[in-house]
Amino acid sequence: MRLETLAVHAGHDADPTTGALAPPIHLSTTFTRDEALRLPHDYGYVRESNPTQLQLEEALAALEGGTAALAYASGSAAGVALLQDLEPGSHVLFPDDAYYGYLITAEGFLGRWGIAFDVVDMGDLDAVRRALRPSTRLVWLESPSNPLLKVTDLAATAAVAKASGALVVVDNTFATPVLQRPLALGADVVLHSTTKYFGGHSDVQGGALVLRERGALFDRLSHARHLLGAVASPFNSWLVLRGLRTLPCRIETQSRNAAAVARALLDVRAVSAVHYPGNEDDPGHAIAARQMSAFGAMLSFRVGAGEEAAKRAVGRAQLFYRATSLGGVESLIEHRRTSEGAAARAPGDLVRLSIGLEHPDDLIADLVQALA
Ligand code: PLP
Repeated sequence: MRLETLAVHAGHDADPTTGALAPPIHLSTTFTRDEALRLPHDYGYVRESNPTQLQLEEALAALEGGTAALAYASGSAAGVALLQDLEPGSHVLFPDDAYYGYLITAEGFLGRWGIAFDVVDMGDLDAVRRALRPSTRLVWLESPSNPLLKVTDLAATAAVAKASGALVVVDNTFATPVLQRPLALGADVVLHSTTKYFGGHSDVQGGALVLRERGALFDRLSHARHLLGAVASPFNSWLVLRGLRTLPCRIETQSRNAAAVARALLDVRAVSAVHYPGNEDDPGHAIAARQMSAFGAMLSFRVGAGEEAAKRAVGRAQLFYRATSLGGVESLIEHRRTSEGAAARAPGDLVRLSIGLEHPDDLIADLVQALA
């Protein structure tokens, strides 16, 4: 089945007890035993699993082409679950432009857990080879990256990592399975903040791991999630499930809008650089064109006159909402360094855009006036 069909149908059957077409939200935290003290439906307690969360996981696995998925309370919880699974003495390789929250987590926690890590430019395969150690257990990829939209050759990098025995995870939050299928390119695990495009309406927090194989890793992650409690709630699972039904058509339109905005920014005098892999002169364009079916709805740009001018431009936006996060139907603008706060890694002249479903001409007009 094609992705558009799966998005509508995966993990979805009319409710057998009532015939309800829309899935019920099973809010119950606990499930009853029969006279012989068995759990007739295999559900016992919400932290272990519940029907709405399982429905979401079935759909997520189908969309990413995996065999199993685990829904988490946030994208951060999903990513950290993989790090918590590592043995002390392990080594992890992160990309230099990974979502800053994961890099801060690595800096703040991995040492305490006895885990070493390095940060490399994943666009430089020789640098990746040099950074790999016999103890490297996990290679973390994110493409396109947040916030610089750097593109990594997923197949080539996964092959190098796997040759040294490391597990490969790809944060596919920006691209979504509509545009990019990391498991088909050699990844073992796909990571999502479902807070973003899967939810799609800026009203739910969630995360997910989708696994190529339902094996020992899945069992360990399920066990840890049960005990540590990072599971997605039934209501949040339901909202993400509802969001993913329209994911392909939202991504298609939002990507088209972003391409128009990114092209228009090239002609704005105040803009010194545009980071968008869909622009033909972007350093990531050739690889993105190979591994993605379109270039996504996230972009960032640099303001030539520097940080204060970038902040002023963001302050003058009228149609874009000034807010962090991404993936909703409304377009967002942020001075990325301000959003990242005290631990900021983003350059001061960087403005990040999440392009929504508005008409691109209106978005372009707003940016042109803000940057005039
Ligand atoms: N991955 C990427 C690419 C993100 O942009 C974010 C959040 O912005 C996350 C992961 C973390 O997700 P969450 O905010 O759901 O914890």
